[in-house]
Amino acid sequence: MKSQDIRQTFLQFFKDKAHSIVPSASMVLKDDPTLMFVNSGMAPFKEYFLGNAQPKNKRITDSQKCLRVSGKHNDLEEVGYDTYHHTLFEMLGNWSFGDYFKTEAISWAWELLTEKFEIDKESLYVTVFEGDEGDKTPMDQEAYDIWKNLISEDRILMGNKNDNFWEMGDQGPCGPCSEIHVDIRSAEEKAKIDGKTLVNQDHPQVVEIWNLVFMQYNRKANGNLENLPDKHIDTGMGFERLCMVMQGVQSNYDTDVFTPIIREIETITDKKYIPVRTSRDLSVRDEKIAIAIRVISDHVRAVTFSIADGQLPSNTGAGYVIRRILRRAIRYGFTFLDQKEPFIYRLVDVLVKKMGHAFPELKSQRQLIENVIKEEEASFLRTLEQGLVMLDNIVKHAATKEISGAKVFELKDTYGFPEDLTELILREHKLSYNKTEFDQQLKAQRQRGKQASELKSDDWTVLMEDQIQEFIGYDALEAKVKLTRYRKVSSKKDGDMYQLVFNLTPFYAEGGGQVGDKGYLEDSQGDIVYIVDTKKENNVVVHFTKSLPKNLQETLKATVDAKQRYRTECNHTATHLLHQALREILGTHVEQKGSAVHSKYLRFDFSHFAKLTVEELSDVEDFVNARIYGKLDLQEQRNIPMQKAIDEGAMALFGEKYGDTVRTVRFGQSMELCGGTHVANTAHIWHFKITAESAVAAGIRRIEAITSDAVKGYFQEHDKAFMEMKHLLNNAQEPIKALQNLQDENSSLKKQIEGLLKEKAKSIKGDLKNELSEINGVHFLAKKIDLDASGIKDLCFELGSQFDNLFLLFAAENDGKAILSCYISKELVASKNLNAGTIVRELGKHIEGGGGGQPFFATAGGKNPAGIAEALRAAEGYLK
Ligand code: ATP
Ligand code: MG
Repeated sequence: MKSQDIRQTFLQFFKDKAHSIVPSASMVLKDDPTLMFVNSGMAPFKEYFLGNAQPKNKRITDSQKCLRVSGKHNDLEEVGYDTYHHTLFEMLGNWSFGDYFKTEAISWAWELLTEKFEIDKESLYVTVFEGDEGDKTPMDQEAYDIWKNLISEDRILMGNKNDNFWEMGDQGPCGPCSEIHVDIRSAEEKAKIDGKTLVNQDHPQVVEIWNLVFMQYNRKANGNLENLPDKHIDTGMGFERLCMVMQGVQSNYDTDVFTPIIREIETITDKKYIPVRTSRDLSVRDEKIAIAIRVISDHVRAVTFSIADGQLPSNTGAGYVIRRILRRAIRYGFTFLDQKEPFIYRLVDVLVKKMGHAFPELKSQRQLIENVIKEEEASFLRTLEQGLVMLDNIVKHAATKEISGAKVFELKDTYGFPEDLTELILREHKLSYNKTEFDQQLKAQRQRGKQASELKSDDWTVLMEDQIQEFIGYDALEAKVKLTRYRKVSSKKDGDMYQLVFNLTPFYAEGGGQVGDKGYLEDSQGDIVYIVDTKKENNVVVHFTKSLPKNLQETLKATVDAKQRYRTECNHTATHLLHQALREILGTHVEQKGSAVHSKYLRFDFSHFAKLTVEELSDVEDFVNARIYGKLDLQEQRNIPMQKAIDEGAMALFGEKYGDTVRTVRFGQSMELCGGTHVANTAHIWHFKITAESAVAAGIRRIEAITSDAVKGYFQEHDKAFMEMKHLLNNAQEPIKALQNLQDENSSLKKQIEGLLKEKAKSIKGDLKNELSEINGVHFLAKKIDLDASGIKDLCFELGSQFDNLFLLFAAENDGKAILSCYISKELVASKNLNAGTIVRELGKHIEGGGGGQPFFATAGGKNPAGIAEALRAAEGYLK
């Protein structure tokens, strides 16, 4: 069965059992402070499990893109070395939100695997949670009893808390799980070793394929469990592992998910992929090549999907994770496949052909993905080349067999040169490095990072149960609100803060690029608590304050800072108009890649391949301003079906998470899916002005701009500067012309001065020739003259070309500072063992300064011109 059909069969099976098929959510998370990427099928449904929102259908099935490269699930270092862990993989899932529970979940899983997919029952094992006394968590007898009707009891294994108990975090929904493992070894091998003993032992042919989680408890901050009122099912099956089983191969990389990419790597690199037994033995050539090919075929998928979901490689946060994955692939290509030029970007084409039908975002962004990867490759390859040179230097100057760990850390930390590559190269030179020292430095660095970002949070104190919060901020900036829950959070960065949730709120939470509202709460006594920020957590608007209101039960007046909100709205609406302008003027290849809407400015990143010309920028400004002066009304539709919005022409962003229904925002011909707040009429924006245009990454440009009050400030400032300039130009009628005249005059004066100085030097030279004296056969002169340092230097060398055996010491005084210049003919330097550098240093003491230079010419500067005479007198001493 082809992978495409396997995915479809899974989804159809659950559709037949009344599940709705939903597309994979974006892998890149924007509104979840605890997670950068979706790392399991449940992440996009978190708000349903927490009861913050209700799904349209309580039964859902999907294939979710997951990335396990950071935080709790990090498989990155395994990838390539084994045959069944990936960075990016698809997790097939079926979901029940407070609907069916264990009986159905278990028996359907069994039916699908053994009847639909016809996997041999004799190759399957299942696990059940054994209980944990320390934690007062009971064994999952219920699951055991269901399983024993389906599978012989010696194939049901007991699992500990590590493998068979699932928790969202330290607190919140949790529950036991049952895993299904499959043994794909040959009959002979099965006869030799009982498969049961290999379950959960990291054996590459006895692997877990499906995990069924039974969410039935809620864990409190004190560690106690309580029963959830609504029980949920969350299952996750590794799609690539299922394909391995169904296609009868021994490795995920031998399925048709990976083989087209691997064939392409073989063609490009002229290396053969030999799926040898996996070990970490890098001394075997084929093994090295096989690992490198697996790493690259895996990582190109992760990076491609991430870019398509809107996460570009960068230097911080999620972007840095993506950069690291790509760099790992480049490194393996560089080291084991001899690829010194960018090549990974060339794999994008096959990948898009293979996966584009299931994930259309890949198709539409192919060009951008290729460009970004190519650029990253080129720049990291330069780093590697540089690092090699530095390392070469270290190797050459190595005094001992062991290089200091600090040096290796510096190479990694400052220059991005990877530790393992350093190790490999050192080993080739029979050298090693101090690993303990390296680890210490790395640990200290991590510790510093962790301390800064660690966030501690208390339990929520709930004042009103079961409140679904209402957001009224599109229509109101003020409301009477009641506190439903709150908690204290603290971090090193921000200190103690409170998070407050109200039954309803006019406050807009940070999202869709727009900043969160600020404002205040007022109680009946007129006491005020400021709201310093507003963010969304699992679909709930959370308000941040520095203290709690005095009376928590009281109704409070919540007021949004209207001025900041107004400025932000101007910028948000202008962002939409800018988007429209760019597509109109540059072309429809322009896609939004990110935006930041603040009260003071807006920033818009988009795909485009060249710097914008001055004319283009001015056209864009004109286009936007025409729509501002056109006084376009906001036309808004709330809660319309996603498909209807798209049919009406609304622009949607790949990588955003939209619900079943969406909101559309329209101004004239600009229509977008958007949850942000906007001005009621474009006239409010007053004016739009671009302040900067720059590159963010390969093929991505950035425009920064301002509107409304900020434009007023901008024009006022420019006007003021202009008036000052005019004033300095004696209020000239035509200041630009006056300025040009000044510049012309200035440059002709400069030329005149240069000519005069040359004349002067000539006449000084003529005089000086006569002043040369002869001491012991040396032409000597020590004198103060009225030239600048470069004039003196010219003079020295001109005299030097006319006289042999010359010793000159010239002094000058400029702006209260003294300079000495000493010139000695080269033949004197040798014959009399004289050194101008040493001489100016010694004589420099008289002028309280220092200097140096070469043996035949050197200068010194000092702050005591009164010492010049003494220095000149002392010069003669060198010739006697
Ligand atoms: P393992 O112990 O093999 O790492 P896991 O316990 O981390 O698996 P779960 O978190 O339960 O796995 O995820 C559910 C399913 O997703 C697994 O049964 C497996 O089929 C698949 N899966 C998990 N991690 C990966 C990965 N890194 N690459 C591919 N598939 C994976
Ligand atoms: Mg795992």
